Order: sequence, then C-alpha cells, then structure tokens
Amino acid sequence: MSFRIEQADVVIVGARCAGTAAAVPLARAGLKVIVIDKAKFPADTMSTHVLVPNGVQELQFMGALDKILALNPAKSRYLTLHDDDGLEVVERFKPFSGIDYGICIPRDQQDVLLVEAARDAGADVRERTAMTEVVWRDGRAAGVHCKTSEGDYEIHAKLVIGADGRKSRVAAEVDSWTPYRASRNGRGFAFRYLDDPQGADAPSAFQIFRAHGNQVLVLPSCPAGRTLVVNMTDATKIKGIRADPEAGWQEMLDLDPVLNERVGGATNMSSVRSTDDLSAYYRRSTGPAWALAGDSGHFKDPVTGNGMRDALKFGRLLGEAAAATLDDPEQLDRALRAWEAARDADTISTYHWGNRESRPGPSSPLVREVLRTFAGNDAPNLSDTFNRARPIEAIITPRRMVKGLINALRAPGADRRAILREVVGELPAEIGARRHRLLDGFRSTRSAGTEREGWDVGTAPNPPSWRPAAVVSADAAAPAAAN
Ligand SMILES: Cc1cc2nc3c(=O)[nH]c(=O)nc-3n(C[C@H](O)[C@H](O)[C@H](O)COP(=O)(O)OP(=O)(O)OC[C@H]3O[C@@H](n4cnc5c(N)ncnc54)[C@H](O)[C@@H]3O)c2cc1C
Repeated sequence: MSFRIEQADVVIVGARCAGTAAAVPLARAGLKVIVIDKAKFPADTMSTHVLVPNGVQELQFMGALDKILALNPAKSRYLTLHDDDGLEVVERFKPFSGIDYGICIPRDQQDVLLVEAARDAGADVRERTAMTEVVWRDGRAAGVHCKTSEGDYEIHAKLVIGADGRKSRVAAEVDSWTPYRASRNGRGFAFRYLDDPQGADAPSAFQIFRAHGNQVLVLPSCPAGRTLVVNMTDATKIKGIRADPEAGWQEMLDLDPVLNERVGGATNMSSVRSTDDLSAYYRRSTGPAWALAGDSGHFKDPVTGNGMRDALKFGRLLGEAAAATLDDPEQLDRALRAWEAARDADTISTYHWGNRESRPGPSSPLVREVLRTFAGNDAPNLSDTFNRARPIEAIITPRRMVKGLINALRAPGADRRAILREVVGELPAEIGARRHRLLDGFRSTRSAGTEREGWDVGTAPNPPSWRPAAVVSADAAAPAAAN
C-alpha cells in the first residue's frame, strides 16, 4: 500500500505547550514545520495550569502573551502559605523579563492561543490528525504516518519531535516508553472552578493552605473573578472523592477553617475533576533524528507548578537547537543530546522536590520549622521554588535546615527523638538529590532516595494493527536502544 508523502523540515506530534513552543523558533528560522494534533482546538486537557512569572515569560517569547492577557485573567503577584500550625508566609514573586505576576488560564482557552502563535510564526498546524507510527530510514527517524478522517498520509522530515504528552505514542515508537527513572506520587488531585466569594476584594495571590496533611491551592483564574481550587490530597482518597465529589469537597473544607472562610459558600461551582495518575519520570528523550519534548520525555509532580513552564521553555530551546543544526545529521544528534542534558540539569532539583512534596501526610515539625524560616521576611524563597530563580538546594540550604532543626528541637513539647529520627531518615534523600544534580551524570539510573517504588505510567499504546508496506521498506530500521 502506498500513501501520499509530504516533505517537511520538521514534524511535531502534539500542539500544546511543548509542540507549539518548539514550532515557533523553527518556523521563525524559515523552516517548513508541520505540527499535528489529534485534538480539535479549543480542547481541554487534565491540568491545573498555573504559570508563575518564569513560565509566563515563555508565553511572551513565543508571541502568545498579548492574546492571553486579552482574555482578562487575574494576575497573581503574591504567593501565600497558611499552615494549620499558625505559620504564615507572604512573598511577592520575583519578576522575569519584567513580568511580576502569575496566571492560571484554563487549558481550552490557553492552548488554542498557543496554536495561533505557532501559526502566526509560520508553522502549519493540522488538527484532528493522529500520528500512528514513526517512519524510519537508515536507523534514523524520518517522518510519521498520519491518520485523518479523510485518509492516511505520511510526513517525511529531518527531525521528528514527540510533544504528545505522558501517554506518548512517539515514545513508544522510539522504544523509550519505559522511564529509566521514576517515582510514585502519594498525592492525587481533585479540583473545580468557582466564582470567587471575595469578588473584587480577592487577594492578588496564589494561596496555599496546609492542614492535616492536605494541601489546597486557591488560584485566581480566568476571567478575573473565577477561581480554581485544587485539593492535593492522599492519592488513596481519590476513589472516594470520585464516588461522592461533594462529600469530598466538604471534607476538604471541614479540615481547614481558614480555607473554609476563604472559599466556603462559593457559588457557580463546576464539577470536580480528579486524578491519581501522577507518577514522575524521566524517559530517554533523544536519539537519531528524534526528540521527546514536554511530558512525553519528563514529568514531575504538578505540586511544583512547573510542567507547562518546562514544556514551553525546553520546547523553545529544542526548536532553537534544531534550527541551527538541522542540515547536518551528526551535529543535529549532538545538539539533541546536549538539549536533553540541559533539560535534565535544569529540572532535576524540582523533580526531587516534587517527589518529596508528593508524600501524603501532615508536615512534620522539622519541615514546618524549615518553612518558618521563610516567614516574616519579604525575600522570595518559597516563591522561588516555583519560579525556579535558584535550584531548590540553594533555597533550602544546609544552614536553613540546621536553623529549622534547632527551632524544632527547642519548641515546647517537642518530641526530640522523633525529630532526630526524621533527620536520619531524610539524610539519604537530601544527599541523593544533591548528588544526582551535581555528580551522577547524564541519564543516571542511581536512585536518589526521594523516589518511591510503585510508579506506573500505564501500558504503551498498541502499535497500529497493520504496518503499511510503504513504510516498512528495505531501508526502514528499528530504533537504536542505546544509551
Ligand atoms: C492534574 C495535573 C495538574 C497539573 N497542573 C499543572 C500546573 O498547575 N502548572 C503546570 O505548569 N503544569 C501542570 N501540570 C503539568 C502540565 O499539564 C503538563 O506538563 C503540560 O501539559 C505538558 O505539555 P505538553 O505539550 O508536553 O503535553 P500535553 O499538554 O499533554 O499535550 C499533548 C498533545 O499531544 C496530542 N497527542 C497525543 N498523542 C497524539 C497522537 N498520537 N497524534 C497526534 N496528537 C497527539 C494530544 O492531543 C495533546 O494535545 C499538571 C498536570 C496534571 C496531570
């Protein structure tokens, strides 16, 4: 069987954060870029979609920010934390590229504007077009096979980018489905939109409420006045929340009177969405003429609020690196590998931080006292963990940990033995996360102690039931599984 074949410089599978961000610099460089997505936009996807200034600047770089701001979103300039132990932290976000606010735009509204930005830059974005397999030539990815309601065809290209999310078919096709390191998430997410009961008086802040092991985010959304409330609770509770969402919601409010005062009694509430499918991972993300951008290559606990930022930033950097090297296969492969190494170096701290934050259960006295060292000064510390102004290890420094430890031990009624046991228990993870970032090297599989057994990324999508003869030809070859 033969198919219509189209030629492009780069083909990208997936047209949300990573795919559009990669397409923009490639198209701006004058290259023929085709982006395909099986969705028809606007389309929603599972996400709580908070972007802090460091991420908002990526929207500006790709030319999408003006249209997004025209949607009239709330701009959140502060991050606040309230703990049921009386801890209060209020920090103003550090600006990036002059942007001093975060936003939280529902994905159906946001992603259609990312698609527009890619088209404005010159990319050819095709909706309702599903990629079913990667085409290979001489051991290199050479294109993709597409399925549409009007029939099948192929796009051949010098580079195939998978930006097709966590259940990436491209990852399966390049033999990279199984992560080389991963961690189970102890938390699940349950969230809904509502009209902010505080109306125009609502704080310009992303708010975190911690009580009895729950973490709840209150996120001013879009348009201003609409708010997203996210219950990050023990993953084992998600089943019960699905069975009775309103009871689960009430339980969340009952656990924390301060949260209840903030959003209890809200009206115009959407239905509750939830997930406990949140394992964090790294997949081998580059090979001969292919790359996995965004969630297809790497995912971390969404409590870090960094997934879209990383998909946008490293999508952009991938596009820039490929645009400069596309005509020389050796140079291209080297640039792809360097891009993957840079992504990992930039995300490792946050990956481990997310693994630790995704443990269910109440904050220990030690963690509380470390957090308390953030309180009472205006410096961005907690907000920098989201904004990625510095690696986590440069924020939660040994000095800060020792100070927290001394305060925890000195607190009236402190269970000193339990605190010291926790210190001993935490040390391997603390050292492991630092060692991973600084010493372990590219694609290290050495466990860092923050990672938990039992991770699950599901089963790889089935290969198509037939392999078209035009694709499996004499020059087609299986992907190299080399490290
Ligand atoms: C519960 C939850 C909450 C989150 N909250 C936040 C948050 O607050 N802040 C944040 O920054 N991040 C958050 N994230 C992470 C964030 O959603 C992701 O990191 C981000 O969406 C990754 O973007 P992406 O472009 O890589 O992939 P995706 O957004 O998953 O897009 C993949 C696209 O590929 C398309 N596709 C898939 N397969 C094919 C195929 N075979 N052919 C054609 N098209 C295909 C899909 O239709 C989709 O449009 C959250 C994630 C979850 C699960």
